[in-house]
Amino acid sequence: MHSQRLQRLIEALRDQRLDGLALMPDANLAYLSGLSFHPGKRLTLALVPADGAPPCCVIPALEHGRAGAAARIPMRFFPWHDAEGPAAALAAAVAAAFGPDARGRTLAIEYAAMRVMELRALEAALPDLRTRDATPILADLRMVKDAAELAAIEQAVRIVESALERTIAQIRAGMTERQVSRLCSEAILAAGADSESFENIVASGPNAANPHHSNSDRPLQPGDLVILDCGARYQGYISDITRTVAIGAPGDVARQIYELVLRANAAGRAAARPGASGAAIDAAARAVIEQGGYGAHFIHRTGHGFGLETHEPPNIVAGNDEPLRPGTTFTVEPGIYLPGVTGARIEDDVVITADGARSLTTFARELRIVEA
Ligand code: ZN
Ligand code: ZN
Repeated sequence: MHSQRLQRLIEALRDQRLDGLALMPDANLAYLSGLSFHPGKRLTLALVPADGAPPCCVIPALEHGRAGAAARIPMRFFPWHDAEGPAAALAAAVAAAFGPDARGRTLAIEYAAMRVMELRALEAALPDLRTRDATPILADLRMVKDAAELAAIEQAVRIVESALERTIAQIRAGMTERQVSRLCSEAILAAGADSESFENIVASGPNAANPHHSNSDRPLQPGDLVILDCGARYQGYISDITRTVAIGAPGDVARQIYELVLRANAAGRAAARPGASGAAIDAAARAVIEQGGYGAHFIHRTGHGFGLETHEPPNIVAGNDEPLRPGTTFTVEPGIYLPGVTGARIEDDVVITADGARSLTTFARELRIVEA
């Protein structure tokens, strides 16, 4: 699996006439090699030569044993100790990857991830270095998920759905958002997640009008809508789901916006198929809310890709006209937000299939009314 990913990457590097790629120790490196690191200050870089020779990894000596055992592709390691610093190890790795005279090479680097520290070290080791952004190359490879990735995502979905059910079953009026959040975190871990995908969101009453609400000590009250947005990480891959529940009987406005969001979510999922664009799916969901008179209150994109990270390409938004390919995973999460009043969002995880699309999340979408 990982060797196929490396092969596809090398083909992409050659297509773009690049000499190679330098990767930071983050999601792209995990995708390629199975190696994952805690973020740190010690220089760690993987150099992937476009000639197909095994990648060369400059690595702090204390990480060497673990990484050597975890790598899923052949890699050459160049460990360095704190007392000596990384320069000699980097020089040796550069010579091994690009030859003894590595002048004037063009490498792809991750513009959004590489720090000045790594860039300066590379420039010192590779005179007259030219760089291009690796982000779109890796994003394109990662957008379409293979069978092993989809299996991990589906397990992450099963975990979060069972945790969400357990959480909702315990919600009562008078509990605070933070209390519900803690129940949700515990349920996600108890259901078998490696961790939460992200800090869950519990947004109640007027707080539901803020899509990026920070959980507070506000107690849930009768008549509230409560937005629950949470996810589970399993074997590196994440799920991301939102459901909105009512505490006791909701008012007319709450019911009205919930029904619109529900129909918008269904329209977005129905528009998903091979060849459809993120823009088309966004337009389908948005049209429902616009026709219902709340267009100005749907204030974010309809969805985002996900996989190793919670937010990946493709963006499900106006302007993204790229046709989606089978295996692409993304969310459909329309919402309506009425400042100072209330809000609702329904988020599903969807995969494009050979002839349509499938919602990986199957948690009931009808408005659930919790005892007040
Ligand atoms: Zn979410
Ligand atoms: Zn999301």
